[in-house]
Amino acid sequence: MKIAIASGKGGTGKTTVAVNLALALGNAQLLDCDVEEPNCNLFLGFDLKKQEDVIITVPEVDSHKCSLCGKCAEFCQYNAIAKLPRSIMLFPKLCHGCGGCVLVCPENAITEKKRSIGIIEKGTNEYFNTELLQGTLNIGEPMASPVIRQLQAHIDESTVAIIDSPPGTACPVITSVAEMDYCVLVTEPTPFGLNDLILAVDVVRQLGVQFGVVINRHGIGDGKVEEYCRAEKIPILMKIPDDREIAVLYSKGIPFVEQMPLWKENFRELYRYICKFISYQGGF
Ligand code: SF4
Ligand code: SF4
Repeated sequence: MKIAIASGKGGTGKTTVAVNLALALGNAQLLDCDVEEPNCNLFLGFDLKKQEDVIITVPEVDSHKCSLCGKCAEFCQYNAIAKLPRSIMLFPKLCHGCGGCVLVCPENAITEKKRSIGIIEKGTNEYFNTELLQGTLNIGEPMASPVIRQLQAHIDESTVAIIDSPPGTACPVITSVAEMDYCVLVTEPTPFGLNDLILAVDVVRQLGVQFGVVINRHGIGDGKVEEYCRAEKIPILMKIPDDREIAVLYSKGIPFVEQMPLWKENFRELYRYICKFISYQGGF
């Protein structure tokens, strides 16, 4: 079972929901796919060990063989190759590693070389009974999706994987949510929250992934998010109140299910709901 936790924007409590759900279940995998700024481990403090580099291939041009025909630059849709009057210029950070330029080169002047854009780390903890896998994109690298894909290759299908998605609705979110069995959208009950939720709902509907909503900091703002969910027939899975005890634990980096047993049960109930929902849909 693979469950993504996503949100239309950052700061809504997505990571809090991902961490608390994983800990409430136990024996789960938690994958931090927010690879530009992974922060699940701020709540867990696991001793993470590097598993591997994330490697992509980028082209290299042999100027002795190149006839400056310009076919590679014409082919590259990402503008990673430019033909100058006397040379070919490469921009490796724009390259998506499709390999097309190698194929179109009539002089066999292009070869591929490997480049590391990030790392995958893993940590386990007996007390929390959870495995954390984290992807980190190197500073200055623009492409998060290859790191997310490589991280998700570590999913163990025999257990529950909770995926902390990147915020927003761009490519990295689509990469992290597209293959999931269910997506939990975390939002706040404010006009901004509603606006971002509508964008996120549009994305998950287009992906065809089943989803429901968790309202965080319930009690602030207004009732428009709930009205929207009712009108759109979107299940509200859980409301986490704007509670002082939860806020204090959050500020200390303590997952609140660890100190508030009722919430452990609430998150387990949320998981049971998702399982039942998917089985009614014929997914399991
Ligand atoms: S491998 Fe693809 S993306 Fe990269 S430079 Fe060549 S054509 Fe462009
Ligand atoms: S396609 Fe090959 S020969 Fe033509 S410009 Fe590019 S590298 Fe040079």
